[in-house]
Amino acid sequence: MGSFESLQWLSRFLDETPGDSEVGGRSRQVPKACWSRVHPSPPPSPELLLWSEEMATTLGLDRPDGMLLGGGPVVSGMDPYAQRYGGHQFGNWAQQLGDGRAITLGEVQLQNEVLELQLKGAGTTPYSRYADGKAVLRSSIREYLCSEAMHHLGVPTTRALSLVKTGEMVLRDMLYNGNPAPEIGAVVCRVAPSFIRFGSFQIHSAMGDDATLKTLVEHTVKHHFPNHSVIDDDGRIAWLTHVAEETAVMISHWMRVGFVHGVMNTDNMSIHGLTIDYGPYGWLEDYNPGWTPNTTDASTRRYRYGQQPQIGGWNVARLLESMVPLMDEPERLHEALDAYTEAFDLHHNAMWVAKLGLDEFQSTDESLIRELNALLQEVETDMTIFFRLLGSLESPSIDALLDCFYDQKDVPSNEWTAWLTKWWARVNGAPNRDSMRHANPKYVLRNWMAQLAIDAAEKGDLSVAVQLHDVLQNPYDEQPEHEEQWFQKRPEWARNRVGCSMLSCSS
Ligand code: AMP
Ligand code: MG
Repeated sequence: MGSFESLQWLSRFLDETPGDSEVGGRSRQVPKACWSRVHPSPPPSPELLLWSEEMATTLGLDRPDGMLLGGGPVVSGMDPYAQRYGGHQFGNWAQQLGDGRAITLGEVQLQNEVLELQLKGAGTTPYSRYADGKAVLRSSIREYLCSEAMHHLGVPTTRALSLVKTGEMVLRDMLYNGNPAPEIGAVVCRVAPSFIRFGSFQIHSAMGDDATLKTLVEHTVKHHFPNHSVIDDDGRIAWLTHVAEETAVMISHWMRVGFVHGVMNTDNMSIHGLTIDYGPYGWLEDYNPGWTPNTTDASTRRYRYGQQPQIGGWNVARLLESMVPLMDEPERLHEALDAYTEAFDLHHNAMWVAKLGLDEFQSTDESLIRELNALLQEVETDMTIFFRLLGSLESPSIDALLDCFYDQKDVPSNEWTAWLTKWWARVNGAPNRDSMRHANPKYVLRNWMAQLAIDAAEKGDLSVAVQLHDVLQNPYDEQPEHEEQWFQKRPEWARNRVGCSMLSCSS
């Protein structure tokens, strides 16, 4: 273990891709660049609130004070920068976006991998547009807890190393309804192989800058997809097929655990198929495929739970389009798009096999799954509790499932008995309980759980955040001591509470 100074810092991205000649500076367009060097803003009175021992061990880091991880002076070896990218936001091309408040400190060479360390909320960059480059405690706790929870659920994700309170208040209009209020400022340090996004490629293609597009593709493949080569169309299609498949895998995991990202804009899609940019995400509590946590998306619900697989495909299509200038035969890009659909179907079917404890997927299972989806929506039914209890059923009777219903009076018992009987016969009275236990988590970061951690942390009490971080490290374990508190349906107070059922991008 050691200090930040003792890490082996690299700056491959800066060395190998074209960047901005200016350092820092006001918000502006930065044509032909993949990045701008920036200085993080040192926090006035930093305090390290949360520290992931697990991530620290991976990096070989001792617990530092809050200064450095809050944006304090950089150490030798770091070469901080903000990445330039574009993106489609809610279906529309938004041109240059970029890291408006994320600042990469550098890449760290470890024994078997290179990881990028990035501060979120450490001040403005040339990509901050009209905003302040800061982040608040509320959204930082949500990112810290959720990314770690997702990792332990087996969902591909960026990680979190630390959360620092900056000692500064930040003005936020939480619901974008004309009520700005001061909130506690914070910075999360997040970690990933890279933070390259679909939008990182799109921006160069959209600007007609084929040379930079090509350089970025070559850099990305060389370091992050070393088994691929993009010297010809065959190679490019193989790489893009890989990216499409990884994206499909990620989204099938989201569907499995009931995660709704909330802002699946193409600037929030990692080229590694990692869940990235935790904003107004939410977890399905009652099983409603039409639900989106994001109030900004309330009118069209573009990013609702049930539409995530289609949006994933739409986003992959935008990435593929951006590669047209590099292709000798651009029509071949359809192969990679088809691969997305095929991979999603494959993993989605495998997901149902595991969730329902089946032996393998048979075409007749489609009706079993369709009927279950309909039944789960008839009355308010908790997704997580339902699947977890299903895995311990001893007979096809609804009695042992009753805890998953919000109102036990209206439960359509006959329909449930019919479905359970059909399922029981399908598994010959012996569901694969082991696979069910590994596919159906017992503990997820329910919206109200994150909110309880935030409410306490805003009063200076981190115990809830720390406890949730611990419980969510083993989400598939029974942990009976935590059942009464955390294996529970949404409490009534959370039904219409801001932060639980309603979130916005304000963070
Ligand atoms: P998001 O949808 O949260 O991923 O953000 C979309 C874009 O807005 C990204 O380019 C962010 O860097 C930028 N952004 C969001 N919040 C801020 C902020 N407080 N200051 C500067 N840029 C921001
Ligand atoms: Mg983003």
